[in-house]
Amino acid sequence: MCYHFSMSDNWTVQPLLVGTGYSSSCTLLISRMHRVIVDTGLSLQESDLVRALRAKGLEPADIDLVVNTHLHVDHCGNNTLFPRAAICLSREERRWTLAFYAAIFAARAPELAAQEFYPELASHGLKARTIRNVTRMARALWDPVRLGAEDRFRWLETADLPAGLEVLPTPGHTPHHVSIRVAAAEPVVVAGDAVLHEDAEAQVHTMIPYARAQYLATREALLARGERIVPGHGPAFRPVASPAATPPGGRTSRP
Ligand SMILES: [Zn+2]
Repeated sequence: MCYHFSMSDNWTVQPLLVGTGYSSSCTLLISRMHRVIVDTGLSLQESDLVRALRAKGLEPADIDLVVNTHLHVDHCGNNTLFPRAAICLSREERRWTLAFYAAIFAARAPELAAQEFYPELASHGLKARTIRNVTRMARALWDPVRLGAEDRFRWLETADLPAGLEVLPTPGHTPHHVSIRVAAAEPVVVAGDAVLHEDAEAQVHTMIPYARAQYLATREALLARGERIVPGHGPAFRPVASPAATPPGGRTSRP
């Protein structure tokens, strides 16, 4: 029997947790050499994540790499669950996110403090009360310790991911957001919040985009690739029409 593997077809992509309106997708990538998780969900989901892994015959110690698309609290809450894993994240994104959370948590008026980090905030017409509620919820859930120990970090700006995994810069939802393109037999883009959901109108309780026009352009560019997408807050889908060819009435897809 002849075993022929190429670098481009030896990955599989499996959902561990499918993202919802509140929590992020957590996605397992497996090759002969590596077991990788992209995004680790809310800290509240630790036991769900362990259960999902065990259903696939894996333990947290079997994971050797965690990758974060960005560092909103619903995407990185269980990084420390994996005792052997290196943690790949953007150095710039970490700096921005730590500063953002520190500023709004310390502020008497988080709706003002947030404007420094979300320059388009005023144009979204949110009530101050809404922003204060979001701040309170984020403060209850955010624990920078759960990002992981610094000696585990590998910066996406400089580190190489295993062969077959490609970092796509996908800014807009946050300034330094990335997506991971997986060279599986059917290529997959694990998009994080660069694509919140297949349905652009779906209700997702997440932050407003850092830069709305950039977010929309990034989303369109990812959909236009035509490759299967794991969105940040919904089930995987495959766009079947390029934006130019989308018929009136909207995009269709097959599972
Ligand atoms: Zn997010």
